[in-house]
Amino acid sequence: MELMHTDLNEIQLQAATAPARVLRLLAGAGSGKTRVLVYRMAWLFKEKNVPPNRLLAVTFTNKAANEMKSRLQDLIGPTGHMLWVGTFHGIANRILRLHAAQVGLDVAFQIIDSADQLRLVTQLIRAQELDEEIYEPKRLQNYINRQKDEGKRAEKVSMLGRDAALFQPLYQRYENHCKQNGIIDFSELLLKVYELWRDNPEILAEYRFKFLHVLVDEFQDTNTIQYAWLKLLIGPENGITIVGDDDQSIYGWRGAKVENIQRFKQDFPDEITLRLEQNYRSSGVILEAANALIQNNPSRLGKNLWTKGEPGELISLYGAFNEIDEARFMVDRLQKWLSNHPSSTYSDVAILYRSNAQSRLLEQGLRQANIPYRIYGGLRFFDRAEIKDALAYLKVLIHPKDDLAFERVINMPPRGIGERTLENIRQIALSKNLALWEAAGEYAETASGKIRNGLNRFFSTMASLQALLATIALPELIEQMIKLSGLLDYLQQQPGERQQFRIENLKELVTASTQFQVHVEQSDSEQQNSLLALPCFLAEVALNAGDEHHEKDENGYPVATVKLMTLHSSKGLEFDLVFLTGLEEGLFPHHRCANVVELLEEERRLCYVGITRARQKIFITYAEKRAFAGMNSSKRPSRFIQEIPRHLIQADSMGLAVSYTKETGGKAMHSPVGRLAKTSTQNSQYPLGGRVLHPKFGEGVIIQVEGADEMARIQVNFIEGGIKWLVAAYANLSMLDSRSTIL
Ligand code: ATP
Ligand code: MG
Repeated sequence: MELMHTDLNEIQLQAATAPARVLRLLAGAGSGKTRVLVYRMAWLFKEKNVPPNRLLAVTFTNKAANEMKSRLQDLIGPTGHMLWVGTFHGIANRILRLHAAQVGLDVAFQIIDSADQLRLVTQLIRAQELDEEIYEPKRLQNYINRQKDEGKRAEKVSMLGRDAALFQPLYQRYENHCKQNGIIDFSELLLKVYELWRDNPEILAEYRFKFLHVLVDEFQDTNTIQYAWLKLLIGPENGITIVGDDDQSIYGWRGAKVENIQRFKQDFPDEITLRLEQNYRSSGVILEAANALIQNNPSRLGKNLWTKGEPGELISLYGAFNEIDEARFMVDRLQKWLSNHPSSTYSDVAILYRSNAQSRLLEQGLRQANIPYRIYGGLRFFDRAEIKDALAYLKVLIHPKDDLAFERVINMPPRGIGERTLENIRQIALSKNLALWEAAGEYAETASGKIRNGLNRFFSTMASLQALLATIALPELIEQMIKLSGLLDYLQQQPGERQQFRIENLKELVTASTQFQVHVEQSDSEQQNSLLALPCFLAEVALNAGDEHHEKDENGYPVATVKLMTLHSSKGLEFDLVFLTGLEEGLFPHHRCANVVELLEEERRLCYVGITRARQKIFITYAEKRAFAGMNSSKRPSRFIQEIPRHLIQADSMGLAVSYTKETGGKAMHSPVGRLAKTSTQNSQYPLGGRVLHPKFGEGVIIQVEGADEMARIQVNFIEGGIKWLVAAYANLSMLDSRSTIL
């Protein structure tokens, strides 16, 4: 284990090799927590002879799990063992597949993702003919998940409060429905495993024996049920290592309990706590900014990170005129920064935002500039329409009674089964208490020629595919399904370039199942044919955060892509260059959080997470005006900007040298930087009243100017196009004869 001495600093080494049975590592962002966790696994294997498959490592995302596996393999070489490294949900899924019978589940149980769960609760509300304004589906969904995350079944929930009165009976119905249909939602996965262990001492003993040491990354975001899991699983002989950072707890709104860090000390009294304070990720400037920001949260355990690294580049701040200008600025700076830093590529850049809806314009900017990008954790590969169609076919194959999936495929590709026919089928299903699949079978017998043919064709396709289930392997099955269902032909006949991508996506699904197959081969319990592999594959798909899908070029090489993601998804990751966009009051901190102390603190931690993702450089942007959720409003810069010490920030005004720190005194931050470039009435290049020609909007007259020269923003009244704000540098304007000005 020589490597350890060169790869880790003294305290990291101490943590990785601590003889303690119970170890708690508390440390700030970028201090090497995840790194220590991996080295500790290597140490347990090499020095303590713990076989790799008797270690359980829990991470927060699939991406982190994969990274951990590959880092571990780098350290200890291929082990030939199936490693137990994954998210809480992924691990729960594996365990439940092994013990389906004991918890009353069919081994082919189906996992629904949160979109399907919402659809299901909506259906339940409608079936009861309840008012959706009062019985809001989203609230019911949250209520159910909250109860499950607290370990409470419908008959056990507290009946206090309005939510319980409204939702408890529906929760009960939901539970019954899921039970009858073998459906498992995400929260149920965790709860079921908890109950499995709690109610079956012999199974718990088996797992205590199996997992000699359990390691948990990002512990600050564990919720009640996850914590209860760990308490059950760790017997007097088991080891546990947890690493966490209270300053990065950002899932309180989803039930995470940062107090678990403190509770752990009481529940595991012989624990040893170690702390790391040296940061290896970020430049001095970035670290100082992060430290200063987070100090505004009074209720924290408190720590200060330091680095040996250089101070590095200042943080740049840009007050965009609006969200379009913000995107334009981002693209411009991204390209310039990368061209000045040749050792970084697109993959080393992240663009972060508070809410998903912000990505659209940022994406547009990137597309126009031909910059390859990928939304991380956004519209997932598995959420694309054609993939959902294909998956629905696979679901119906093993669960013909899956109504959601049935509705998706019955007329995809079109078979002449229109909405009216479907409504008739629904009626039969409702009156006879049948699944849609069964009702459609009955309906086919009496339906008219065209519809009958359509339905019969569908049933016979499904029958041929079902016959293949037990005989061929999963990738072949999926290939056959794509062909026999008619999906492939249908896409091939559609005009347009997009169809080609869709066909490629379908092929990618086959590839994904091939990779999955490898996974299955390595496991001890699962087998080759599709009958067994398919339910596992569908479960994996439902659980996969979609973050492992890599864009490839035509030769199959991965393409370097800029990553766009929400601040929440960025946890644990790192990039050379980070854009923190939309730092406006109301957007970030979110307006719902601004007046509630705990929520505001969580927003601040989120900002801390964002800042500490960066290695070398941060651009912070905000827009003075933003059209958002249908409203166009003026914005004030976020208070978080103000909380970063001034000497760490430089105003960036698309080239204008604005030294706002001198000019604006104490009030600098709440005065949009962009405006500090004073409105100029004597701009030599763009005189007020000057006539200009724009390649698209045609001829117009300058009516307002902000800033100077190329970097000016000018407002032009176009004869054809009306009034528009333009950034001179990008507008491609030519001046017409300036002597003929109107003013
Ligand atoms: P986060 O809180 O954001 O999850 P973390 O504490 O898990 O951060 P790591 O991701 O493990 O931090 O480490 C941050 C970066 O610093 C990584 O690139 C890691 O490889 C590097 N690093 C950590 N320790 C050392 C070290 N001793 N020598 C060199 N590089 C290190
Ligand atoms: Mg980490």
